[in-house]
Amino acid sequence: MRVLSKNISALEGKEAELEGWVDVRRDHGKLIFIDLRDRSGITQVVFTPGNKELHSLAEKLRPEWVVKVTGIVGKRPAGMENSKIPSGYHEIQATDLNIISEAKTPPFDLASDGREIGEETRMKYRYLDLRRPRMRRNLVMRAKINKFIRNFLSDEDFIEVETPDIGKSTPEGARDYLIPSRVYPGKFYALPQSPQQYKQLLMVAGLEKYFQIARCFRDEDTRGDRQPEFTQLDIELSFVSQDEVLVLIENLFTKMVEELYPEKKIKWSPFPRLNYADVMSKYNSDKPDLRDDKNNPNELAFVFVVNFPMFEWKETEHRWDAVHHPFTKPNVKNKEEFIKLFHEAPEKITALQYDLVLNGYEVAGGSIRTTDPELLAAVFEVMGNKPEDIKEKFGHLLEAFSYGVPPHGGIASGLDRLIAILQDEPNIREVIAFPKTGDGKDLMMDAPSDVSKEQLKELHIKVEEEKQK
Ligand code: ASP
Repeated sequence: MRVLSKNISALEGKEAELEGWVDVRRDHGKLIFIDLRDRSGITQVVFTPGNKELHSLAEKLRPEWVVKVTGIVGKRPAGMENSKIPSGYHEIQATDLNIISEAKTPPFDLASDGREIGEETRMKYRYLDLRRPRMRRNLVMRAKINKFIRNFLSDEDFIEVETPDIGKSTPEGARDYLIPSRVYPGKFYALPQSPQQYKQLLMVAGLEKYFQIARCFRDEDTRGDRQPEFTQLDIELSFVSQDEVLVLIENLFTKMVEELYPEKKIKWSPFPRLNYADVMSKYNSDKPDLRDDKNNPNELAFVFVVNFPMFEWKETEHRWDAVHHPFTKPNVKNKEEFIKLFHEAPEKITALQYDLVLNGYEVAGGSIRTTDPELLAAVFEVMGNKPEDIKEKFGHLLEAFSYGVPPHGGIASGLDRLIAILQDEPNIREVIAFPKTGDGKDLMMDAPSDVSKEQLKELHIKVEEEKQK
């Protein structure tokens, strides 16, 4: 039966069978050592010249070959121990070796942390890049964070609901990824920029407490550290105040850090709540980095920013746009007051919107929603939607709100960014298993790529001549 590296010490004096990759091979005169790597770590294996056949087979081994080794677990000679790894006081005296799969020489070093290697090469061979311990640790911690979130919210009575990825566009201020319909020529689905409308419809459905670890898709120019798809922890609650949403997310992240990152210190508890206007005038940014020592990755300065303006002027489109999204509730009593204030000074209307900022990054954002269908329609209208557009784009939501809608609000947290900060990684690509490159390509699978004429025809799509290869 296969034994993992981390468990060999319990088998001292006994036979053990290990399977994994050759991490390194060292020839010390007549002795050949290999470090055998599996998911739990590394085991030192020794081949002595006594068994000639076995010894010459071991001579052939190269890094990254997959092998099965049988041998007797013994103590390492005094002075040769490695206290840093669980198997560091033991080694295997090999009695049998089976080469399962040979490997070409990897295109780059897998033993380093990889930071010195060009990203293009790392991405093209991501499955090799992910073999390095740093990348494995990032994925392991990501899984633990997901598990922690699921347990915490389930214990708080939240229901995890999956919403569709193939649906209708929800405006979050970015461009949609579209999917052409084969069955309905000329019609398109959109990938969700976030599950915003679905989660609000779940509140109409009476779920009351929803969460999802959801994939979001935004077709933006992949500037800097953005990805075409990213993961959000998405939350929505009914009969809730802004204060309750903030306390919930604060508790969740505080307990998560305490359990999974005990070496990190949260600077302020409770998290300070700062006014948008004050933050802007003091730091000239709505996501200030308020750590005492910006070189100290173990310091976590969480702050809430509240009282955002509802609208900002969009010069390019010559219209007022929602700072957050149109579903956010402006701080007004009713539609009449809203219209009056909008005509007086749109920039002065504030919203029940909040962001959570960590070390200079926005790690969550949300709002209390407008549930009065008249007020919501008025917000859509001042943002430049004609009545017929409103019906076509948001009619389903307005109609749903006419069937008994509870007051509700929520928040969403960009998990890639949060995990990157917690793992002390400089960008989110380091904590995503298969990210796109900075210019939106998957170099490993080669996407985006051409498709056949037949596929295009089925989808009723003609690609402009000059763009066809
Ligand atoms: N859907 C929003 C976003 O993606 C978050 C929210 O309002 O809950 O930013």
